[in-house]
Amino acid sequence: MKKTTELYAGKAKTVYHTDDPDKLVMHFRNDTSAFDGEKVEQLDRKGMVNNRFNAFIMQRLQAAGIPVHFESLLDDTDTLVKRLDMIPVECVVRNFAAGSLCRRLGVEEGMELNPPVFEFFLKNDALHDPMVNESHVETFGWASPQEMVRMRELSLQVNEVLSKLFREAGMLLVDYKLEFGRYHGELLLGDEFSPDGCRLWDAKSREKLDKDRFRQGLGGVVEAYEEVARRIGVGIDA
Ligand code: ADP
Ligand code: UDP
Repeated sequence: MKKTTELYAGKAKTVYHTDDPDKLVMHFRNDTSAFDGEKVEQLDRKGMVNNRFNAFIMQRLQAAGIPVHFESLLDDTDTLVKRLDMIPVECVVRNFAAGSLCRRLGVEEGMELNPPVFEFFLKNDALHDPMVNESHVETFGWASPQEMVRMRELSLQVNEVLSKLFREAGMLLVDYKLEFGRYHGELLLGDEFSPDGCRLWDAKSREKLDKDRFRQGLGGVVEAYEEVARRIGVGIDA
């Protein structure tokens, strides 16, 4: 299916209409941003790596029975998806303390979190994506209580599948962000799963293999994404 007009351009992807009103094309760009878009760089190959990475993960999740928007990989940088009515709330699952959890609660990076922590954040760059609770989400009408239950349930199912996948490839899935949307009355996992939106550490050395390399200016950002991709068997060298 061919992309037609642009629907919107986000910080890392551009989303296009297609001839089918129920389908969109997600185009993965090389743009890499952090700190709500304050730091932006072009990183060669990142669009391709994340597009292929995301397709691989979405298919694994689908095979595990998780409803996802993914339809098919179109080419190196483009993926066909179902068009969702996106819920403007980000769902974060944490298995180890890192990032904003450490800043907010003063806990040490790397502390194991059992049971995993589940959080909602409002998707709003101008407000720096503030953390919100179920009461805010319900009162402001971002999602219904039933949808919140489902988002939490699906987010934790994703955790079961992906923690195992990465663990078997010698990595710790530290935390990740998911976005959901509505599709003809059903809640589906949307957006992407890639090292741009999760934290992955080498299980032995705890070396960071994700976007923290970009946030913290550690270098070797795409090289780390490629390393993760190879370890789990994503075809990126074709
Ligand atoms: P951001 O909006 O955070 O800058 P991106 O650059 O990744 O992020 O832009 C992709 C946009 O597309 C996001 O706003 C995301 O919510 C939206 N999106 C992802 N999947 C779908 C979908 N299946 N249908 C409609 N919109 C989607
Ligand atoms: N995350 C994301 N997009 C956001 C905010 C967070 O993909 O707008 C991801 C981030 O990469 C990490 C997890 O969600 O894997 C938790 O992020 P955190 O709240 O620790 O925020 P950060 O420290 O990145 O500001």
